[in-house]
Amino acid sequence: MSRRVDAVVVGAGPNGLVAANVLLDAGWSVLVLEAQQTVGGAVRSDRELHPDFVHDTFSAFYPLAHASRAITSLRLEDHGLAWEHAPAVLGNPFGDGQWALLHRDRDRTAAGLEAQHPGDGEAWLDLCRTWDRIGDSLVDGLTSPFPPVRAGARLLPALARSGGLDTVRRLATPVASVGRELFGGPGGALLLAGNAGHADFPLSSPGSGVFGVLMTMLAQTVGFPVPRGGAQSLTDALVTRLRSRGGEVVTGQEVTRVVVRGGRAVGVQTRDGESYDAGAVLADVIASRLFGGLVPAEHLPARLVRGMRDFELDPGTVKVDWALSGPIPWTGRPDAVPGTVHVADSVEEMTETLAQVSSGVVPDRPFLLTGQMTTSDPSRSPAGTESFWAYTHVPQPGMTRRDAGEEVTGRWDHDDLERFADRMQARIEARAPGFGDLVAARRVMGPHELEARNANLVGGAINGGTSQLHQELVFRPVPAMRGRAATGLPGLFLASSSAHPGGGVHGAAGANAARAAIWAHRTRRLRGRA
Ligand SMILES: Cc1cc2nc3c(=O)[nH]c(=O)nc-3n(C[C@H](O)[C@H](O)[C@H](O)COP(=O)(O)OP(=O)(O)OC[C@H]3O[C@@H](n4cnc5c(N)ncnc54)[C@H](O)[C@@H]3O)c2cc1C
Repeated sequence: MSRRVDAVVVGAGPNGLVAANVLLDAGWSVLVLEAQQTVGGAVRSDRELHPDFVHDTFSAFYPLAHASRAITSLRLEDHGLAWEHAPAVLGNPFGDGQWALLHRDRDRTAAGLEAQHPGDGEAWLDLCRTWDRIGDSLVDGLTSPFPPVRAGARLLPALARSGGLDTVRRLATPVASVGRELFGGPGGALLLAGNAGHADFPLSSPGSGVFGVLMTMLAQTVGFPVPRGGAQSLTDALVTRLRSRGGEVVTGQEVTRVVVRGGRAVGVQTRDGESYDAGAVLADVIASRLFGGLVPAEHLPARLVRGMRDFELDPGTVKVDWALSGPIPWTGRPDAVPGTVHVADSVEEMTETLAQVSSGVVPDRPFLLTGQMTTSDPSRSPAGTESFWAYTHVPQPGMTRRDAGEEVTGRWDHDDLERFADRMQARIEARAPGFGDLVAARRVMGPHELEARNANLVGGAINGGTSQLHQELVFRPVPAMRGRAATGLPGLFLASSSAHPGGGVHGAAGANAARAAIWAHRTRRLRGRA
């Protein structure tokens, strides 16, 4: 006989774990089933590369977790989570010894930009003041289910007070243009564009501006914090809280089917043949594997199935981890060293690189997002060493037309990965001569390795589907869902980053799914069907 719980959550990523916590707080019995042997989804750490070094296997910096009520309301600090900050938040070296640097102190950031171009300091502070007026309600609006009535009601007057339509226009402007409009020197524009590059927007597209401003201003207001001890500590705090409320997490349990009976999701089956009955199923699963995969298309609304034919993944990813025997010898290494370092020569170069990726070309000058983790949190490796990573985007497997560097086939096999990792490393070496001499060990993960470690990272897509405007907000993941967690199959809720508001560790998709399940249960009870 199969076991019955109020809710089964499929997948123990941050969204699944937040969903489970919200349901437990509402008094539900909850079972979380995770396919991997380790909980956390893309929020995990390991010591595989070197026993003395902690590496975050996937994500590393958590400004969104700090800003999102879905996570802050869980008070994870009471469950063992502690945060650390690097001396400076973020930097982009120009190569000539100068840097664009973002400090948690906005006056210090502004002073650096002012020194590079008169007027840029005041432009930075002006952007910060606008953010002070609209930031909280904008973040709330973006993380609420659609329509975001309450947050919208707060946001509209805030926008009116902070420039009205001029501010709305600026947020709708592509990030490359925002940078040009606001700043005369290269620093401010590079900081904005680099932060937009954390998602997969072409820098000349609408949507890139609001995302670039959002990430940059979060960097300025909450920093880019990291969990002490590694990303796994954030996951562990979510699991500790969940267990303290009676929730259960079982690893090594891949769900292969959502059971549908009488037009309703009523449970799940696992690869091991276990069955679980549930009042609701919350899927922390990428939309393309859930709809038509775990749930056969005949059980889903026709409009959703049609919409999924146009569902677009975000690009693939190559991530390299290094164990370094010393601090990185950056040219012009700043006194306050940033935790996050973007490697790009200019906004124009970034624009070209991201356009290459979206047109199936492997970039010859990849834009690198890198993390100096021991600089951010001294517990990650022995004193005087650095636990370091860099990742960059590449075309999805099977989508490569050519390599702009003429060495990579696009198969992303071992040889491709090593050649491409050398190309990434050469970009760092150019900014930090002597880098290669410090490498004690290196691990390269490409699209296939990432997906093998987390089935949601299909072809190395890290955001559960493209973040571009045509698949965001009310269009996410498909227009049939209208930016909500309810899937149209009663009892089934989409809780992953494929749901609005998309990728990033903010837990909002999980919290929205949990609330939708609670709401649906109440409505059903009122109708006498539960
Ligand atoms: C390399 C990389 C770097 C990133 N950097 C950052 C960063 O610095 N900051 C940030 O905020 N975000 C970052 N992100 C994005 C962020 O990690 C993700 O958006 C976030 O983890 C999504 O959470 P999720 O719970 O929706 O899914 P995931 O974290 O992907 O978790 C999904 C879980 O579900 C499990 N699962 C899937 N299918 C099944 C099934 N059928 N049965 C059972 N279990 C299943 C998977 O094994 C996985 O554990 C990064 C992502 C990657 C890959």
